[in-house]
This record gives sequence, structure tokens and C-alpha cells, in this order.
Amino acid sequence: METTWTVEDIATLMDAWYPPATAETWDRVGLIVGNRARRVCRILLAVDPVAATVSQALDSGADMVLTHHPLYLRGTSFLPEDDPKGALVARLIRGDIALFNAHTNADIAHRGVAHALADLVGIQDQVPLEPVGEDRQGHPVGLGRVGSVEACTLGEFAGRVAAVLPASPHGLLVGGDEDALVRTVAVSGGAGDHFLARAREVGADVFLTADLRHHPASEHLEGGGPALLAGSHWATEWPWLPVLARRLREAARAAGVSVDVEVSTMVTEPWTSHRPTTGGHR
Ligand SMILES: [Zn+2]
Repeated sequence: METTWTVEDIATLMDAWYPPATAETWDRVGLIVGNRARRVCRILLAVDPVAATVSQALDSGADMVLTHHPLYLRGTSFLPEDDPKGALVARLIRGDIALFNAHTNADIAHRGVAHALADLVGIQDQVPLEPVGEDRQGHPVGLGRVGSVEACTLGEFAGRVAAVLPASPHGLLVGGDEDALVRTVAVSGGAGDHFLARAREVGADVFLTADLRHHPASEHLEGGGPALLAGSHWATEWPWLPVLARRLREAARAAGVSVDVEVSTMVTEPWTSHRPTTGGHR
């Protein structure tokens, strides 16, 4: 007989795959909104808990939304509906939709965010860029990933990455000599400024990340690289969602549970269009 999961069942699964104790101390992960006893027939997976994601959940009849990013990182005293986050919480509660997130605990995990990005761009024999140990199954866990790819030029590799990252206005920025040979690749989804030195230390030829600022990126390249590929924060974290969807479907099948898992393909990066600039220089 087919059964259904509750919000608590899904929270328990997520906590086993992405243990909350492995999240950074400043982070907030877990059940943000919702009744733990509520039955879940449809789950929506998304990167950001924003108004558009809640609208999609309401339109698609989702009972639970799993996001990567937290809704609140600091304590809050007020949830008025004229505040965007207050409005979001109110819409979720009225719609009887639970919201759960796994953030830095998902970043470091086996079958987590960095792992998914490394797989997507074809990295072989990947290991964490900054290892933090092993999970209970003995898989190495840690921030970012590094490994090898079939040798090619930076230009060719950038083309491959651009062809597999989800389409979004930000696109992919390339920093470095496009004829240089690429064999060792480091990746870190989302903001990767603080891994620039580590990517150099491990001998990467190129580092794929997001949210790179002018000065750290410029000084890093002046100092000898590795070359940089900058996607958007959203696009470099999104590839985890199909991995999580497969994992949830496998677990549901194994448990004889009936549940629909949908991955949101809505682009929730802040940018809405990209224009190459064409003005003069005077
Ligand atoms: Zn992020």
C-alpha cells in the first residue's frame, strides 16, 4: 500500500543527508515555517525563498518547499505583511505550505551543492577543496571541490561550462588566458572569494565560482591565478536541485511512498537581463 510522508519525515531525511550540526555556526538551517504533522504529496525545490518561489508553490499545489538559502539569518521581532519576508511567511501559512532549508550543511556534503557543480562540469576524482572530514558513510566532505578534467584550453573549458550551467542573465565571465591549458579544476558554488588562495594552493588551473569582486579577483589574477570563471550565485548552486530531487524520488520509491518532486527552474538571481556594454572610452 502506498503511503505519504509528513513534513517531519522529510525534515528527518534531509537532516540525515545534510546534518544540521555540519552547518556553519552563523547559518540557520531546518524547518522555517510549517506543521511537522502535515502530509506532503508534492515538494518544490528551489534555491531562494522569495515571493516568486512561494507563488510557484501555490500555483503548483506544493505542500512543502525545500530551499538552499535561509529566509532569516538573524533573529526577527516583527512579521508585518508590509515587509517582504513577513508577507512571504503569511502566504506560506495561509497556503498551508511548509518551508525547510539546507544551506552550508548542503554545501559541504556528499551529493551536496559543491559535489553537484563539480559533476556538472565534468570533474573526475573530485575531492573537497577545503576538507572537513568524512560523513557516516565514509565519503569525504568539505567546502568546494577540486579534481581533473580532460585536458583542454581555458577557452574550450569556459565553453563547456557555459553550455551546462542553467541559462540566466548573468551568464559566465572568464578571467585569464583563453589559450592556457586546463587540467585541474576547482569549483565552489555561490560566493567563492575566500577560496581564491586555496584554489592556488591546490594547483588548480581554473577556479569556477560566483560573486567575485573586482579587487580580490584582480589581485588574484595579478598574483598568478588560477584563471577564473564567474557564473551567477544562483546558477552555480541550482545544479544541486536535480540531485536532491533524484535522491528524494529514490528514497520515496524505496519506502513505498507516493510524492511528486518538482524542481523550480525559475531564475531567482537578482538580474533580469544582460547587455554587453558598447559605449566609447572618453
Ligand atoms: Zn548561496
